[in-house]
Amino acid sequence: MEKEAESNYCRIEVIKKRGNIVGYLGRIVSFLIGIFGILLGALCCLTLIDIIVGYPMILSAMGLIMSAVGYQKVECPACAFRNLIETDFHNFDCERCNTRVLVVWTDPGKSL
Ligand SMILES: [Zn+2]
Repeated sequence: MEKEAESNYCRIEVIKKRGNIVGYLGRIVSFLIGIFGILLGALCCLTLIDIIVGYPMILSAMGLIMSAVGYQKVECPACAFRNLIETDFHNFDCERCNTRVLVVWTDPGKSL
């Protein structure tokens, strides 16, 4: 019994969340806000009372930082698991189902 490795991949198109100079500045700003959010969220968690506020604050702040440094969440077409990948990558292996996913980045600003 042989496994067909070639059939085990999908192809998806993803809109790249990257812009021009404004986007570059926006990335720096969101990076700083992200760090601030993590510190603030950590402070909230330390007081224990605000752990309900602090925990999601840290999570969203981390998401901000990830998008700022060029990471983006891409949904696996096979199992819908949201993988975090670099926007320079053209393929990745899904963390959950191990499907090889080919990513075709589309730039909405350039194509026009
Ligand atoms: Zn998957």
